Amino acid sequence: MDAFKAYVITKDEDAKKPNPAEWRDITLDELSPGDTVVRVTHSTVNYKDGLAFAGNPGVLRKFPMVPGIDVIGEVVSCESDRFQPGDQIIMNGFGVGEVHTGAYAKYARLKSEWLIKRPDGLSPEHAAAIGTAGYTAMLCVMALERYGLTPEKGPVAVSGAAGGVGSVAVSILAKLGYEVIASTGRQSEADFLKNLGASEVIDRAELSEPGRPFGKESWAGAIDVAGSHTLANLLARTKYGGAVASCGLAQGMDLPATVMPFILRGVALLGVDSVMAPLERREEAYRRLAEDLEMSKLDALSSTIKISEVPEKAADILKGKVRGRLIVDYS
Ligand code: NDP
Repeated sequence: MDAFKAYVITKDEDAKKPNPAEWRDITLDELSPGDTVVRVTHSTVNYKDGLAFAGNPGVLRKFPMVPGIDVIGEVVSCESDRFQPGDQIIMNGFGVGEVHTGAYAKYARLKSEWLIKRPDGLSPEHAAAIGTAGYTAMLCVMALERYGLTPEKGPVAVSGAAGGVGSVAVSILAKLGYEVIASTGRQSEADFLKNLGASEVIDRAELSEPGRPFGKESWAGAIDVAGSHTLANLLARTKYGGAVASCGLAQGMDLPATVMPFILRGVALLGVDSVMAPLERREEAYRRLAEDLEMSKLDALSSTIKISEVPEKAADILKGKVRGRLIVDYS
């Protein structure tokens, strides 16, 4: 196979930070080992991709690294019998783009056990629009449902609602019949969020500032992408017996909370991880996404960019400037 283009991040020995990503020719031999070669047709830009381009050591743990945590593409060759050339696949997480070379290249070499078949009826563009953020939003909804949340129990709050996880979460919850309270720092996106199905839009400052350890019971459940005071306030204002699904740290990785919501209201804190989630749960999440996410809403919350725009958008996502989801189209 001839050389092909990729974003490559290197780190000089003894340097504190990696070098900025270079767009350069590489060969298959430079990719991490795996039994399956995939031609990448689409990807996306997640918050974690933003952290990778910024050289965050918690994300990039091997060099040289091709970033990009979401691969949507076509199998070129597979040494196991799980896939045949031409199969259409989706791959999210598993350390790809962090410790295993990732999506921002024409080809990716991956392990077949990380791949799921792209469901019939889900286009590659929609699979990219969903990406890790959208699939994590579904995992959060599933976690709340496993805990017993139903629309009759009351509203669900979503933090970072104008971002990737948040906007998909708002859309899914609205389709499922929940009353959704969307929290955003961008009041200019209030109409966008109402069109996705939010019943109420609140200012994120209401949640992101230090609050009372035990507040008014305001929602039966919540999905949190922010951590820190936002998560503490979400817990403090969850109704008796409710639950909060925590998946992110856009505000901070700290949790300045008290045990009061747990011990006086039986509130549960549900951790959600997408990276190492087992294959069956991923397949279930995509099945549910195909049913419970209106593709017209997904279109409304996503926009398409070229691969040359990835570094700029990676910087924007860390500044909270990206609305919804980005589709990277390699054609
Ligand atoms: P986005 O950047 O698209 O969305 C994050 C949103 O958080 C922003 O758009 C903004 O929303 C809000 N936000 C930003 N800064 C702050 C702040 N200081 N305080 C409160 N809210 C803030 O990122 P993603 O949706 O892709 O990811 C969200 C988080 O979830 C990240 O931390 C990411 O690492 C994590 N994540 C975790 C996964 C897992 O497996 N656990 C998988 C996927 C993501 P608004 O403007 O509406 O306020």
